[in-house]
Amino acid sequence: MPIRILDPGLVAQIAAGEVIERPASVVKELVENALDAGASWIEVETEGGGRRRIRVADNGCGIPMAEVPLAFARHATSKLSSPEDLFRVTTLGFRGEALAAIAAVARVTCRTRSSEEALGTELRIEGGKILEQRPIARPPGTEMVVEDLFFNTPARLKFLKGEGTERRQIDLWITRYALAYPHVHFILRHSGREIFSLPAVREPRHRLTALYGVELGDALLEVAEEADGIRVYGWISPPGVDRPDRQELVFFVNGRWVQDRMLPAAVLQAYHTLLPGGRYPWAFLWVELSPDQVDVNVHPAKIEVRFRDSDGVFRIVQRAVHRTLRESTPVPVFQRVETFKGAPAFPAQPISMGPRDLAGTPVEESASSGLPPLRVIGQIQASYIIAEGPDGLYLLDQHAAHERVLYEALQAQRQEGPLPAQPLLEPVLIDVLPEEMSLLEENRGLLEGLGFHIEPFGPRRVRVQAVPAVLATEAILSVFQELLLDLQESRRPLEGALEARLIRSICKRAAVKAGQVLSMEQMQHLVRALEQCTMPWTCPHGRPTLLRFPIGQLARQFGREA
Ligand code: ADP
Ligand code: MG
Repeated sequence: MPIRILDPGLVAQIAAGEVIERPASVVKELVENALDAGASWIEVETEGGGRRRIRVADNGCGIPMAEVPLAFARHATSKLSSPEDLFRVTTLGFRGEALAAIAAVARVTCRTRSSEEALGTELRIEGGKILEQRPIARPPGTEMVVEDLFFNTPARLKFLKGEGTERRQIDLWITRYALAYPHVHFILRHSGREIFSLPAVREPRHRLTALYGVELGDALLEVAEEADGIRVYGWISPPGVDRPDRQELVFFVNGRWVQDRMLPAAVLQAYHTLLPGGRYPWAFLWVELSPDQVDVNVHPAKIEVRFRDSDGVFRIVQRAVHRTLRESTPVPVFQRVETFKGAPAFPAQPISMGPRDLAGTPVEESASSGLPPLRVIGQIQASYIIAEGPDGLYLLDQHAAHERVLYEALQAQRQEGPLPAQPLLEPVLIDVLPEEMSLLEENRGLLEGLGFHIEPFGPRRVRVQAVPAVLATEAILSVFQELLLDLQESRRPLEGALEARLIRSICKRAAVKAGQVLSMEQMQHLVRALEQCTMPWTCPHGRPTLLRFPIGQLARQFGREA
């Protein structure tokens, strides 16, 4: 085939494909336009999962009569005028592509009236061709009706999922924008049925509660941090309130919902060791910074952004979340208690903040973490420690608690230098496979930092000279096997992550086991050490170290209170 210039209709369809992938993309673009138009009220209706019909109406500034056809031209926007503007975008839209793209692949009716003009306009456009334009009477604001999406691009239609899936995608977008713009009244209807109507509220938290329910809303912890011109605020879930996927790690950058990898990574790093494997927190975080610090023009649908100082953003998000977690009260204890089969239902109630004496009065500034001083009463099943606190009965898992204590101690020691190594009186020779040998070689520096001194001894054999001092009494062979397993399972991650993993394994092995009888002194020592921890509520693998049974609840359960 000879080379030809594509006809303009086809060019428009190709371009539209980048912006409009599915009904939810239409909803997203129209809602963004309504928000950019300063609307305080936005109504979204769909039929057939948005394929048959999408209607978005707003009470924003409207489009002046003379500009209506232009709004549907490609690269036509009222939001940018000079090249420099591209680097200080403060609106959601700026590419001037959305309306053109939608009109290229659907039948569109636009009814609008500028708040500055007495008469409104109705424009009908189909597959990019204007069919009709006429003046109409209507209140200020805009109504866009998009019908028969992809009617002229049957190939696209085939890629659409079922009606339910497309509807859920629309719900997702509306939910995100409703969250980001709590002062805007959002109404959503599918096939005539109202899904929600969210009146304007001043506090983002009230919108969150309206969308996600009071239970989650009340459990969430507030985040607020500001440094170097970057502001981070919002809500995160406490350890124990978690979910099986990353879907609810939600970020708004200057009011735009963005889906990137760096921000969730920063949050997850802050939760490190606080959640069990495969569990993820909830996070709704707003990041605000000067528009010239963030490039929003990196993705056709504008769902990704690029930060000028992405390390700086990572650090502040990580620090904000970490600080909130450290200073917060751990709710999870109760949720776990509630899930006990047959146990009395203790309603969720946070452990009171800060160290307190036995009368419940806060104690002045020891260096500890928020655990109150605990009086050890005894041990049950050679596994759990019973203790009394100012505000109730505590049960500690001795292994989990000891793991946490060791983990924080070893992490602190490692910051200072290598962990103490215990040289073996008789070095142990162990046969290894070639790939195991190379793993050990690759990680030699890291291993020595942790106290493992392991040298090649012939092509297929290594000599273990020393192990971390805390493991001195363990069986060397099984310590070594576990080490190899850890190395194999984390071939690629960053060195920091591998080291933390190895330290966790060391702690797991070195910590007192369930089934081990402890003396009163040993238990007291362990409890004191846990009180000194920064994150005393979970073991380094994210399981709880202690449960609390509040005294008031006990009284109620025994019928002592009216
Ligand atoms: P962009 O949002 O990138 O500017 P669009 O194609 O989405 O491009 O919209 C083109 C222009 O149409 C906008 O710049 C704006 O001036 C106008 N417009 C679109 N929707 C609305 C609306 N709901 N209210 C007021 N003006 C609108
Ligand atoms: Mg737009």
